[in-house]
Amino acid sequence: MISFSNVTKAFGQHVVLNELDFTVAPGEKVSIIGPSGSGKTTILRILMTLESPTSGQVRVDGDELWNLRAGQKPRETAAMRRTRSRIGMVFQQFNLFPHMTALENVIEAPVHVQGKPKAEATSSAMELLEMVGLSEHARKRPGQLSGGQQQRVAIARAMALQPRVMLFDEPTSALDPELVGGVLNVIRDLAHSTDMTMLLVTHEMRFAQEISDRVVMFDHGAAIEDGPPSQIFGNPTQERTRQFLHAVL
Ligand code: ATP
Repeated sequence: MISFSNVTKAFGQHVVLNELDFTVAPGEKVSIIGPSGSGKTTILRILMTLESPTSGQVRVDGDELWNLRAGQKPRETAAMRRTRSRIGMVFQQFNLFPHMTALENVIEAPVHVQGKPKAEATSSAMELLEMVGLSEHARKRPGQLSGGQQQRVAIARAMALQPRVMLFDEPTSALDPELVGGVLNVIRDLAHSTDMTMLLVTHEMRFAQEISDRVVMFDHGAAIEDGPPSQIFGNPTQERTRQFLHAVL
């Protein structure tokens, strides 16, 4: 279970999340949609502890990741370290280590963070690369792969720590159109075949409709509408959701 309670995030005077309340149940596949700048990425970054809230509480699987009053300084806790090992994240810009092969990218965290024997990590990594359709490219470096292939390596890398939660931040928005389908296929397979909790920030509305249990519409740092895809895309209750969908669909 992921919960945001009364979470505010401001960069200087700019309030990006405004007293946000938002929960995701274990195993749920939730898509976050909304206009640029509405705070979608910031939610994922707070979960990854790449960003701290200004105030509010965030819990992940019973662990208190953040609990801050306005003005209170964040500090590193054991709960943060535990949470990081339970969450995998796939970024817009792949973020692979450029000097390592695909295989080396995938085994990096299992070997160096978890202390897994290299042979065991390699065998699991090859299964993951097979799952994303890249076993033949395991020895290539990111520069020798297409953007879509790099993003599939990034998905395999995020999966290598066997996370309970996967976060996807607009995973196809940096790709040429013809490469989007292959990446979406991998994410779709994960959504259908695993009981991981998945949180996906996306502008791919049809895909969100297809794979999500729930879709949450963000605007100005708040979740303004939250429901099954049939409601959000078929019969939204908020005028703002209607306008947004009209503009993007
Ligand atoms: P997009 O769809 O464009 O990625 P988003 O909904 O994911 O948008 P966020 O990336 O969460 O939006 O950003 C929300 C706002 O916070 C934006 O206006 C952004 O410029 C601002 N912001 C994000 N990170 C920082 C930062 N480190 N310093 C200052 N402002 C920031």
